[in-house]
Formats: sequence, C-alpha cells, structure tokens
Amino acid sequence: MNPFAYTRTDDPAAAVKQVAGDPKATFLAGGTTLLDLMKLRVESPALLVDINAVPLNKIEATDGGLRVGALVSNTDLAYHAAVRKDFPALSEALLSGASPQLRNMATVGGNLMQRTRCYYYRDGISPCNKRQPGSGCAALEGFNRIHAVLGGSDQCIATHPSDMAVALVALDAVVKVRGPKGERSLKAADFHLLPGEHPERETALEHGELITAIELTRAPLATRSHYLKVRDRASFEFALASAAVALEVKEGVITAARLVLGGVATKPWRAFEAEKLLVGQKPTAAVFVAAAKAALKDAKPHKHNGFKIELAQRTIVRALTTVGGMA
Ligand code: SF4
Repeated sequence: MNPFAYTRTDDPAAAVKQVAGDPKATFLAGGTTLLDLMKLRVESPALLVDINAVPLNKIEATDGGLRVGALVSNTDLAYHAAVRKDFPALSEALLSGASPQLRNMATVGGNLMQRTRCYYYRDGISPCNKRQPGSGCAALEGFNRIHAVLGGSDQCIATHPSDMAVALVALDAVVKVRGPKGERSLKAADFHLLPGEHPERETALEHGELITAIELTRAPLATRSHYLKVRDRASFEFALASAAVALEVKEGVITAARLVLGGVATKPWRAFEAEKLLVGQKPTAAVFVAAAKAALKDAKPHKHNGFKIELAQRTIVRALTTVGGMA
C-alpha cells in the first residue's frame, strides 16, 4: 500500500472542501472497495477524508417515499420495513450482494461508487484503459467470460458491478450530491456513464462531489418490483446476469414497466424498447419472451461471454413472471 494522509470530519462542507481542494484526495466511508484497491495498488489516493462521522446515516420518511442517507449501511437499508414493502427490488438487490459482513460495512453511497471486478483492472499490471488511460484493454482479446455484451466500446467492456444501482434505476431513484458549487440531483439512470473513449470516468460526479442521499418515490410500479440475480455461486458473488423489473398491471393489462439489466452491461442497462413492448399487453409468457429478446437485441458477444445473451433473456422472463404472473 502506498503512503497516504488521513483525516476525519463530521462536517459535510469541510469534507467536500478538503477533497475538492486536492486532486489526489478521496472520501472514505465503509472502505469495502477502496481499501482493497489501495492494497492492490490499483488506487493510490494521497489523502483519505473519512466521512463516517458526517450525519448522513438516517432513513427518513418523506411525503412521497423515503430519503436514505448516503452512509446508511446496505444491511440497514435492505431490512428497513418500508423498503421491503414499497421497494422490494431494492431490498432483494442489496441482499443478493456481497456477504453479510460486507453489507454491514458497505454504505449506500459507496455501493454506487464501487469499481468493476474486471480481473485485468484489479491485477495492477495488465493493459487497462480504466486503470491507466491509453494502455489498452486486455479483456478484448483475453478471457472475457464476465465481461459486458451491452454498452461496451473499443476501449473497455467491463461490467458494472453494483446490484443496488440496477434496482435504483428501475425504481426511478434520485441521487442527491453536494459539491464545491452547491447541491444537485441526478437521476439514478444518469449517474453511471458508458465507457466510450474514457472508461476511467465511471460516474457523472465531479471531483469533490459527495453523495448525500438517495430519494425514493412510492409508486404502484415500485411496489410490484423484483430483482433476480444469476451467478456462479449462491452467495458472495457478482452477477453474470441480473434483472430489476417493475410492472404496474391494471385490469389484467400492463400499464407501466421498468426493465433494467445488471451483469451484462457497462452500466445499469435500462431496456427501453423492451419496456415499450410490455406496456399495453397482457402479462403472458409470449410477451415476456418478446421483451427479453428485445432487451438483448443489440448485444455484442465476445469470445467467452456469448452465453450471457440467453442467460439474460431467461433471467428477464423469470423475473417478469414473478411480478406479472400470467394472464
Ligand atoms: Fe480495463 Fe475495461 Fe479492459 Fe477490463 S475491460 S481491462 S477494466 S479497459
């Protein structure tokens, strides 16, 4: 691990000022990704600003739903009664991630900021445009079984790792941030970026901006939501394919739909075309299969990950069947 300075504060304005004022500074919350990457020498911040004492650890009811502080643990959010009742996909996504010990440490803000599990990124030596811009991408011609079939570029095909972020997009969540220029809100769907020419840039945050909260709005769609994750083993494993689905069904007809994929794309992947296919239809197996095919229509497999296309389609059909039933 490289040498670094450490400081802590309970004042969000001071934390933002300290990180914004030093290009090599970063926030430290649960540390479940950052400290691993520092030990691997993939990340080497010069200054860690510990924000664990900043008062951002409450889940509060709002007029329309919930405001979740960025320092709430993944465990506390997953088991919160209102989350389980009104936003089940979020609870399911959180409980499918990591291990109980990690969920106790990991925060909501940190979950959004976690880095890819691409092994070439984490080995610290392979060509990797995300770790070292301009060095190349070892995964394109290497072993790419866990990599993305949607949203990749000729610079990077790393999959986005978060389960929670996939559910947040399906639930139309909003991310609140505070930075040197003040506060702003981002739709969860706009928070993560496609790799394009700059895979080293993963989120829409500017340096020094601190995630302060997630806002969730209650809706019939959110109540009828579900997260299904398929992986190599049943626990402590990242998704090979996952689906966050939400349906509103009135008088036997789908009136609104959300379908967001994880494990197969470079960011939480909202399948707009598939959602359009679902709306106005009865929830039948044939409709779910058509939506699943539409969701993967533009998928581009690489040498070892072609299996993900059918796996994702089956995951979608099963998740939709769980929330939609059959007409
Ligand atoms: Fe790096 Fe992305 Fe290529 Fe993995 S897929 S080696 S993260 S550039």
